[in-house]
Amino acid sequence: MRIQDFKNKDIHELVDLQARLVSANEKLNAVVSFCDVDAQIKDYKMKEDAPLFGTPVVLKDNISTKGVRTTASSRILDNYVPFYDATVVKKLRDAGAIFTCKSAMDELGMGGTGLNAYTGKVNNPYDLERITGGSSSGSAALVAAGLTPLAIGTDTGDSVRKPAAYCGIVGVKPTYGRISRYGVIPYASSLDHVGYFTTNIEDAALALEVMAGRDDQDMTSSYKEVEAYASLLNGDLKGKKIGIITNVIDAIVDPRFRPSFDAFTKKLEEKGTILEMVTIDQDLMNALLPTYFIISNAEATANHSNLDGIRFGMREPGEDLNEIMINSRTKGFSSDVRNRFVIGSYSLFVENQDKIFRKAQKVRRVIVEAVDEALKNYDVLLAPAAGTLAPKPDDSYGEDLNNTFMVAENHMLLGNFSGYPSITVPYDMVDGMPVAINLLARAFDEQTMFNVAKGIEDVTGLAGITKEDF
Ligand code: GLN
Repeated sequence: MRIQDFKNKDIHELVDLQARLVSANEKLNAVVSFCDVDAQIKDYKMKEDAPLFGTPVVLKDNISTKGVRTTASSRILDNYVPFYDATVVKKLRDAGAIFTCKSAMDELGMGGTGLNAYTGKVNNPYDLERITGGSSSGSAALVAAGLTPLAIGTDTGDSVRKPAAYCGIVGVKPTYGRISRYGVIPYASSLDHVGYFTTNIEDAALALEVMAGRDDQDMTSSYKEVEAYASLLNGDLKGKKIGIITNVIDAIVDPRFRPSFDAFTKKLEEKGTILEMVTIDQDLMNALLPTYFIISNAEATANHSNLDGIRFGMREPGEDLNEIMINSRTKGFSSDVRNRFVIGSYSLFVENQDKIFRKAQKVRRVIVEAVDEALKNYDVLLAPAAGTLAPKPDDSYGEDLNNTFMVAENHMLLGNFSGYPSITVPYDMVDGMPVAINLLARAFDEQTMFNVAKGIEDVTGLAGITKEDF
């Protein structure tokens, strides 16, 4: 499904699509709340030349929608109905979008599996038993299932790019500050990005044009002009310099990986791409996940201190204010989330700040310097987006801190530490499951990122793939 499929369509057909979405969701479990499509069609005043004319769009459930419940898949926000729209919602609506649903996610964005939503596991359309990855799990599942051409997510560690990989679709995390985060429930503010999913690069380029741009309500949003990414799209790979991150390749042990990846890179070379191996200091790669956990949990602990049943969130009874807060937070968050708050609080203790939190920030800086060094000689860096096919829940994902998990499953953090733009693109099918690569480009160089991605898409022939019979 593509955005242009909706260009000259009667918007009333969206009613049928919504019915399909409702029925498919019984298998996917990807939706928290459905939006009122009939009401949006009734009030629809867009002209046919609007960039997203009549286009159905899915929103992750941490994006504020006026009058529509926004839970971030957390029990504590079960009763939260925002009284304003996020900037990204306004921009999409002004471009012609019609919102179909709010999608399930790992609670508050904390997780990478799609197993941690208050509404239960989200299922991968390629194999319902397998996970979608997360945290933007519902958004990824619905694009992959051909139920929407565009779904919005957020990406703090890889939460758009990982589920895109497991579900065989395009996942974009633009440069930090490119898309306003106003109205998005935060996780870790120095790492949070709005990102999104499509089935092809042209749609991905168009969607960024619609959503990007300065917003005075988000002081981290950039004044940099938004380019005409879609009309400037050029998939010519001749002379493009791509650095392949050796550390990630070396960390993958699945014997099915190498033959498929080598066949893919050979095709890129045939198109005139200059491919070179580039190695990042292994100690820095091993430090990615621990550094991320310190910074993200510290920021999350501070950001979520207002979810206490008093200022925000469902309230549990208690004798006094303190007890109400304790009861509300104990019942409102899953134990996974509470664990993260414990880690966050610990590194924010006055006596630990220098030793833990500031040290992590310094390590982050050194890692970004290494990325800069690696990017100096290349248009983009390329690596497999994940170390395995989408696992099943009992595959004990991440319990073993081996190299595959620490490096191959977590290297996309490089894009969050640096804030540089990054995209996941499927490149092959292995045993019926999609596999993907990830690109990392220079700050605000989304055009080069899209151009290389388009070249890759032309080589693989996988533009627009979905899995609709599940
Ligand atoms: N998987 C990472 C985590 O658990 C990333 C989440 C995200 O990007 N929101 O925090």
